[in-house]
Amino acid sequence: MSGEAAADAIEVVLATHNAHKVAEFQRILGARMPRLHVLGYDGPSPVEDGTSFAANALIKARAAAAHTGRISLADDSGIAVDVMGGAPGIFSARWAGHAAGDEANLRLLLAQLADVRRPDRGAAFHCTIAVVVPAELAGGEAREFVAEGLWRGALAYEPRGSHGFGYDPIFEPEGHEVTAAELRPEQKNAISHRARAFEALIPELQRLVAGVE
Ligand code: IMP
Repeated sequence: MSGEAAADAIEVVLATHNAHKVAEFQRILGARMPRLHVLGYDGPSPVEDGTSFAANALIKARAAAAHTGRISLADDSGIAVDVMGGAPGIFSARWAGHAAGDEANLRLLLAQLADVRRPDRGAAFHCTIAVVVPAELAGGEAREFVAEGLWRGALAYEPRGSHGFGYDPIFEPEGHEVTAAELRPEQKNAISHRARAFEALIPELQRLVAGVE
C-alpha cells in the first residue's frame, strides 16, 4: 500500500500495481465520496483463472481484502465481439499473446474480422468493479458487490483517432460516427463502460463504507 491519508479518511485498497489506475479511481470516487482515500496494493497477485470479468475482479478484490484487512476494490475490463461469442473478453489485454501490446491485439482482432461486414460487427466494452469488505470489518461475514458497465458499439474496419488506449481506435460507440479514440477523453470518460460501472458502484460503496464505520 502507498499514500498518506487524513485522519478522518476512509481508506480502501485498489488491487492493482498500476499507479495511473489508482489515480483514476481516486479522482472519480473522490469526487463523490470526498473522504475516500484510494490506496495502491503491493501484495501478492492471485492467479486470475475466472471465466468472466466479474469472477476475475472478485478474485483480485478478495485477495487484496485478505492480505490487507481493508475494504478492497478490483476491476476487470475488455471488449466482447458479438460474432466471436464474446471474445476476446477476459483475454482482451493479451489477445495476441502475453508479450503483445495494444497495437498487436487490435490488428489481430481486425484480421479475424476481415470477412465480417456491418451490421455484423457489433461489440461491447465491459467494465466490472468488485468490492469486498473483509469479514472482520463486516460483523463476521465478508460482504461483496460487483458493479458492471456495458458500452455498446460496432467495430470499424481501420483504426482512427489518437486518444485513449487498447481497442478505442476501432470501437465506434452506439450513437457516434467517430471511434472512442476520436472522442475527447472527457467525452469518453463521461459515457464509457467504466463510467457506467462507477455509476452502479458508488451508491453501493457508500452503503458498504457506512456499514463499517
Ligand atoms: P484490464 O482489465 O485493465 O487489464 O484491461 C483489459 C484490456 O481490455 C485492456 O488492455 C484493453 O485492451 C481492453 N480495454 C478495457 N477498457 C478499454 C477501453 O476503455 N478502451 C480500449 N480498450 C479497453
